[in-house]
Amino acid sequence: MTEGVRNDRVRIIVVNEINLDERLCLNFCPYYKPAKNDKLACMGFLVVETLIERGGEITFDASKKKLNAVTEEKLMQNLCIVCPFYEDDCDFIQQKEKSLPCGGFTLLGNLLEANIIGIDDIKSGSRQNGLFDKDRR
Ligand code: SF4
Repeated sequence: MTEGVRNDRVRIIVVNEINLDERLCLNFCPYYKPAKNDKLACMGFLVVETLIERGGEITFDASKKKLNAVTEEKLMQNLCIVCPFYEDDCDFIQQKEKSLPCGGFTLLGNLLEANIIGIDDIKSGSRQNGLFDKDRR
């Protein structure tokens, strides 16, 4: 169940009792701005949210280590390519000055490398969020 709780400045997303702004964005995302009232979530966030809604055991104590190149490529092909920020707004994809990926990318990559989830989980999460468009591939 997703419940949006809004105060004056910050929208807090609570999924199955987990505050995703805090557990995911604050902990893992170098671009997180607590006061920013974003209406548009990146695909990393949306897929993590979907996996939790499905009852997946997502652990947020995964390390933030750099992902290997194979994992990064899998995520770019199955997650980033359907992200609303992919075309113009993601510095990591645009390879701007060694920019880091978003927190969802890092968390999902760590979970993939730990075999806690598989790439099919990411593919289906992307599809569920309605932005999967074969024509963009
Ligand atoms: S790394 Fe960039 S393109 Fe990929 S999911 Fe995150 S914000 Fe979107």
